[in-house]
Amino acid sequence: MSADLSDLYQNVILDHNRRPRNRGRIPTANRSAHGDNPSCGDQCDVFLRLDGDRIAEISFDGSGCAISQASASLMTTQLKGKTTAEAENLYKEFHEIVTTGKEPEEISDLGAFAGVHAFPARIKCATLSWHAALNALRGDGAPATTESHKD
Ligand code: ZN
Repeated sequence: MSADLSDLYQNVILDHNRRPRNRGRIPTANRSAHGDNPSCGDQCDVFLRLDGDRIAEISFDGSGCAISQASASLMTTQLKGKTTAEAENLYKEFHEIVTTGKEPEEISDLGAFAGVHAFPARIKCATLSWHAALNALRGDGAPATTESHKD
């Protein structure tokens, strides 16, 4: 990765931390799910309004480390307007980026999280909000946890 691209990606994460997008509860949300990453202490709630099979609105609220909060903010900007299938595919791409460090084929803000793969403990921080969003989309209302057991 060039130094310029690395700076760009770093700025994406800093910017989402300073100015989180779509933060707060959507009053008209018809789906929500809670995410919990006990290994780091991150918490994330995702709210969305599904219109047919399309995510008309999406927001998050939560607390935790910079990676988890920036990832949640970015996730909402990526998933808004997407169908459930498109959201599942985007998550697959994001998961590959954060676990392997593979760059996205086209320059995408998702690439900002490629550096996370070098810090395995932080992968859960980056994926927490996505797990919560997918659980909300699936409509099972089950809380997402990064641990294999459920409370
Ligand atoms: Zn974290």
